Amino acid sequence: MEITKENRTWLDNLGLPHPVVIAGPCSAETEEQVLKTAHELKDTDTNIFRAGIWKPRTRPGGFEGVGEKGLPWMQRVREETGLMVTTEVGNADHVEKALKYDIDILWIGARTTVNPFAVQEIADALKGVDKPVLVKNPVNPDLALWLGGVERIKSAGINQLGVIHRGFSSYKTLNYRNKPKWHIAIELKKEFPDLPLILDPSHICGRRDTILDVSQTALDLNYDGFMIETHITPDDAWSDAKQQITPSRLKEIIEDLVIRKQSSSKETFQQKLNIYRDDLDKLDNHLLAILKSRMDISEQIGLLKRTENVAILQSARWEEILKSMHDEAKKKGLNQEFITEIFKAIHVESIKTQQQTK
Ligand code: PEP
Ligand code: MN
Repeated sequence: MEITKENRTWLDNLGLPHPVVIAGPCSAETEEQVLKTAHELKDTDTNIFRAGIWKPRTRPGGFEGVGEKGLPWMQRVREETGLMVTTEVGNADHVEKALKYDIDILWIGARTTVNPFAVQEIADALKGVDKPVLVKNPVNPDLALWLGGVERIKSAGINQLGVIHRGFSSYKTLNYRNKPKWHIAIELKKEFPDLPLILDPSHICGRRDTILDVSQTALDLNYDGFMIETHITPDDAWSDAKQQITPSRLKEIIEDLVIRKQSSSKETFQQKLNIYRDDLDKLDNHLLAILKSRMDISEQIGLLKRTENVAILQSARWEEILKSMHDEAKKKGLNQEFITEIFKAIHVESIKTQQQTK
């Protein structure tokens, strides 16, 4: 990956490149672990060192962070490696302590962004302070909550503000620890185009082997940087062991990422692209026409069921459609999860249409 200096966001004014790389352990565990990791990261493209000092654990009993005693370790990291340092704050007391030790950048975690009281408390503690703050998405896929978190911190007068996309939790996920739901981050970027958008692939993937692919997707979507959990001995980590990678693996990942240009000025590129886009537009119109015909038939079925006083939802039929489209998708080389989602949406709309037929 080629790292460039560009004028994109306030990150550039701090002398940070594009894409910016934030790396370091999920948690600061011991002074030795923090410093060893930071020294190894110094030889990678890392710009900012991360470590959780206070850890919000979903269930009690896990490692809850070393607390204030870890903050001088972060200062040592900055002194010895020249890296900037960042940690998570979850309340006013954390903010006060992080400021006392002059932590360069603060971030608000996903379990805090969900709580407007907590975010407001942090915003109040930040009034009159000139510190960069990064707001992670809330654990649930609620864009308004994420926007609200950003707005509260912005209202405190913080100008160096950014967001971190770490994915969204759901009851069961197959491939991700937290589903990316890319469209939510893209929507947020539409509302706040000047905010740097950083990807945290570690919490999205929950495992090591998919970090590169997910990070490449973010670059293709024009993200401004990454926050990646990195540990000298990941298997021994006190939190999030499965997803942490070594500094040398981080180096490889960064080398393998491909930065794509926004566009190409080559005439043939534009010509070819226009042809493809015309084809897509035609197909989209075709899809709409098919959906319209399908809904017309649903209306007829609705009438028929109404006349015969038959219930609208026939669950066996619902299962049958989903299963057959799922199987068809596989045969055609389409993503089965995607096709199932589409047919669920079509079926729900079809039931609505049937209910509304008079
Ligand atoms: C973390 O960064 O280690 C963390 C707790 O992340 P999140 O708030 O995204 O769960
Ligand atoms: Mn973590």
